[in-house]
Amino acid sequence: MFIDLVKIEVKSGNGGNGAIAWRREKYVPRGGPAGGDGGRGGNVILQADQNMSTLLEFKYKSIFEAEHGEHGKSKNCHGRSGKDLIIKVPAGTLVRDTNTNDIVADLCYHGQKVLIAAGGNGGRGNSNFATSTRQAPQFCEPGEPGVNRILELELKLLADIGIIGLPNAGKSTLISVISAAKPKIANYPFTTLVPNLGVVKTPEGDGLVFADIPGLIEGSSDGSGLGHQFLRHVERTRMLIHMVDALEPDPIQNYQIIRKELKKYSKYLDSLEEIIAINKIDSTDSETIEIIEDSLQEENKPIFKISAATTDGINELINYVFERIKHIPKEIQTFEIIEDPAAYYNDDSYFEIIEKKGAYIVKGGKISRLIGVTDLTSSEAIYRLQKILKSMGVFQALKDAGVEDGDLVMIDSFEFEYIDEDLDALEYETLEEELVEELDEFEEINN
Ligand code: GDP
Ligand code: MG
Repeated sequence: MFIDLVKIEVKSGNGGNGAIAWRREKYVPRGGPAGGDGGRGGNVILQADQNMSTLLEFKYKSIFEAEHGEHGKSKNCHGRSGKDLIIKVPAGTLVRDTNTNDIVADLCYHGQKVLIAAGGNGGRGNSNFATSTRQAPQFCEPGEPGVNRILELELKLLADIGIIGLPNAGKSTLISVISAAKPKIANYPFTTLVPNLGVVKTPEGDGLVFADIPGLIEGSSDGSGLGHQFLRHVERTRMLIHMVDALEPDPIQNYQIIRKELKKYSKYLDSLEEIIAINKIDSTDSETIEIIEDSLQEENKPIFKISAATTDGINELINYVFERIKHIPKEIQTFEIIEDPAAYYNDDSYFEIIEKKGAYIVKGGKISRLIGVTDLTSSEAIYRLQKILKSMGVFQALKDAGVEDGDLVMIDSFEFEYIDEDLDALEYETLEEELVEELDEFEEINN
């Protein structure tokens, strides 16, 4: 089955939490902080693979999760990072984010990789937060959550050889005898509604992709019938096999009908290298075959006389294709990428403020992440968060947007009441002193 459109869900790993731990040494009354960092969550990466020719397997498995990072440990031990998850997709796959409908990746080269969901950073353990004035930091960072995305994968056919011809010429029969693809064959037009792909191994061991292009009729280039949507697939091939049905009353005219459509559709299609295959020689008398061949000689193209049904002449045709295709470079058509996912996740400065019924909603990649890693029960951690938000210009932007004392500010899923207070005036030292006192009390009680 040829599947060219699927939806998948990807989730990068969460970062591991940082640890709060203390050194316990015999002669050191209160050892310093020794909480290790959490490990990074695994990334989700898409990679193009030219040996895949359909998205079929995503019909059976559509949810992909990378490993989480391990939590930090005591004695400054860091948690292990989560393994990256590499998802292989056929070369020629376009990736859209279903939220925005933007194309976020175009995987056209074999081996090409795109970071599609970055793993969350590990949280830092409390040993990172020790300063000369804060020797016993009571907080650490939780790991950043991973990124969840629902993606649409669309396979833009990257066939090497397109098999064209009017309905009934024998295209599907040919592809079924040369490859593993088993298309539906019937004696009426438009049997095949999607292009059938067949992979044929060359003597060198590479896979050549043949595409049976159905539905081409007179007027296809203007949108008649179903052929128009398939012409764009032909456009991505490197070479054509043009099948002519020898049993038809006027095979030459049939040949010209298709040529005219290619030419009208695009210059590139018209210029593609073409091989002519006169088909059904098993049921045609040799005189007729000769007349057809003579008339087609004018085209100055290689002509093969075959029977797709009995496989007569097929080997010669395919061997010729193998030889010619070596000299035709792979045409790579790329699509404009709206958003570079890797850059998006690293853009720290971006945020926006949306006003909704008197509440102010702050949105932005880094901001959500910051909230995600802040322990909102720790006043120290909140203090740190506020300092970062201030340096990013969030408070100024809120003021510019008209926020007043007591207004509701929403950052991600957290709600705050806005209090207009100069952060620098809020003495951190007082907080610090309180903490040290608390800690001393705690130790007194325990001794
Ligand atoms: P398509 O529309 O170009 O894909 O054509 P199909 O492959 O479906 O073939 C149309 C009809 O022609 C079918 O009935 C086939 O059995 C028949 N056919 C295909 N190749 C040959 C051939 O080499 N000889 C004969 N006698 N019939 C053929
Ligand atoms: Mg067919």
